[in-house]
Amino acid sequence: TISIRSIEKKFGRYPALNKVDLEIADGELLALLGPSGSGKTTLLRTIAGLEFPDAGQVLFDGEDVTFASAAARRVGFVFQQYALFKHMTVAKNIAFGLDVRKGKDKPDKAEIARRVEALLKLVELEGLGKRYPSQLSGGQRQRVALSRALAVQPSVLLLDEPFGALDATVRKSLRKELRRVHDATGVTTIFVTHDQEEALELADRVAILNKGQIEQVGTPDQVHEEPETAFVCGFVGEAN
Ligand code: ATP
Repeated sequence: TISIRSIEKKFGRYPALNKVDLEIADGELLALLGPSGSGKTTLLRTIAGLEFPDAGQVLFDGEDVTFASAAARRVGFVFQQYALFKHMTVAKNIAFGLDVRKGKDKPDKAEIARRVEALLKLVELEGLGKRYPSQLSGGQRQRVALSRALAVQPSVLLLDEPFGALDATVRKSLRKELRRVHDATGVTTIFVTHDQEEALELADRVAILNKGQIEQVGTPDQVHEEPETAFVCGFVGEAN
């Protein structure tokens, strides 16, 4: 379980997050939904350990990780621009988080190769391990980024507008892909989107942010049919 307790974060005077509380259950697929500037990315980065709050706590299974590094939290992170290493093959990209480990923590070569193969199969990129990122489509690159994040067997998978840079058709197929990968691995997953259709279609629960605060958290049906605030109503409710 991930517990976010009364998190506050300011950039200058402006609060990006203002007393945010949120609980995410093990194995859940949660969307952070809201308009531009509502604090989605800041919240995701705070959960990741890429940003540290001014006040409040982040707990992983009851353990306070508020100021722990991303590596210590064992998070897998997928950025909007896939950020693959251009000079490395697909297989090397996926293995990166394992290759950089040291000593006892580092799996042997055969084990790394086995995991890479399994991940390529999981995201339906079998046989493409020897290619370079420049030889892949945008959607394929994002699948590689997803595999790379999963390679370290993360405690939580975090994705920031993972499909934002892709066209509508590819977005749709990657949505299905993320759902399938989530169901296959069971890993707790949190993704940021400003696209209400994407959030409602894909997520088990949706947290709706506005001006650094959470307006409502609920299942897609709940936020769609029983919006609790005027903002939620306008953003995802029946009025739409
Ligand atoms: P978008 O969908 O546009 O990415 P968002 O909902 O993810 O928006 P955040 O990126 O979390 O929102 O930003 C929340 C607020 O904090 C915004 O007003 C933004 O300008 C501000 N902010 C975020 N990061 C920084 C930073 N590094 N320095 C200064 N201000 C920042």
